[in-house]
Amino acid sequence: MAIERTLSIIKPDATRRNLTGQINAHFEEAGLRIVAQRRLKLTPEQAKGFYAVHSERAFFNDLCEFMCSGPVVVQVLEGEGAVAKNREVMGATNPANADEGTIRKAFGESIEANSVHGSDSAENAAIEIGFFFSQCDIVG
Ligand code: ADP
Ligand code: MG
Repeated sequence: MAIERTLSIIKPDATRRNLTGQINAHFEEAGLRIVAQRRLKLTPEQAKGFYAVHSERAFFNDLCEFMCSGPVVVQVLEGEGAVAKNREVMGATNPANADEGTIRKAFGESIEANSVHGSDSAENAAIEIGFFFSQCDIVG
């Protein structure tokens, strides 16, 4: 399988509980390498722009408000099949349905406050990485 990159976000529910290191350990144990990482507080405009694909969903406004409610850690993960691998390590969107050993099972508080975001395709990964990082920020 090819070496890929994917965009990950550690969400405000997780940074609030000081879980950045524990979540990063899940990525590294799964063979994903953190090749770029930055902590920031999203503005409402950034959150709406990032989640624009969900703008018609009932949860859109709440989601954007939640994502701005505290710091996030945006990161680029690299590894073999990184997009699918990261989705596997994250677990199902709703922590109640997530498999044992996944990040969302271990740390997710609710379907909204589910601790992590991960790109859902290689195409979206490229767009989402470009939203936060320039080429020279990423050191593989
Ligand atoms: P995923 O993050 O697993 O790719 P989606 O792309 O469908 O899931 O949704 C984006 C984010 O929106 C989720 O991670 C979660 O924070 C939030 N979300 C999804 N579905 C709901 C819902 N039914 N109610 C509230 N928030 C939701
Ligand atoms: Mg998604």
